[in-house]
Amino acid sequence: MLPVVALVGRPNVGKSTLFNALTRTRDALVADMPGVTRDRHYGVSHLGERPFVVVDTGGLSGSDEGLEGMTAKQVRLAISEADLLVFVVDARDGLLPLDASILNELRRSGKPVIVVVNKTDGVDEVSVMADFAAFGIAETLPMSAAHNRGVDRLVANAMPHL
Ligand code: GDP
Ligand code: MG
Repeated sequence: MLPVVALVGRPNVGKSTLFNALTRTRDALVADMPGVTRDRHYGVSHLGERPFVVVDTGGLSGSDEGLEGMTAKQVRLAISEADLLVFVVDARDGLLPLDASILNELRRSGKPVIVVVNKTDGVDEVSVMADFAAFGIAETLPMSAAHNRGVDRLVANAMPHL
């Protein structure tokens, strides 16, 4: 079975955009493999030395009620089957309290976490990266998924974890 990378974070930070950037190849196929749970969005990335499965997830909003709670449950399943968690945050919004609580949940999983600071296009990258350094995650990478910037670096950083 291929290693699995889950993309997690608040709604609207660019997870699906990053998913598309990672899996956008001519033969991109939505993985339909035994042993992985349905109802989430799977693709295969061929951008690294070895292929890996990418799981796009719905956003974590901090609520465990109703539809948001069902989404959160799906995200937790995605976390549990992942080898690596890519925590996507939004450079324009900066570090929000919800980001900090999501990171706490990711840490509790014991899985490796790479922080991706997305939407760095049009912001002061140095200062925004300094803000997110408060997370204390060694691997915190700038990204502009919409412009395909930082994607190769993320893949290179992911490889040793997979
Ligand atoms: P998701 O809810 O986390 O899956 O976020 P989406 O991928 O749907 O993106 C939410 C919005 O952010 C969309 O309007 C995207 O076009 C926009 N977006 C995503 N990545 C970037 C980026 O790198 N830069 C900018 N400026 N906008 C982005
Ligand atoms: Mg999405």
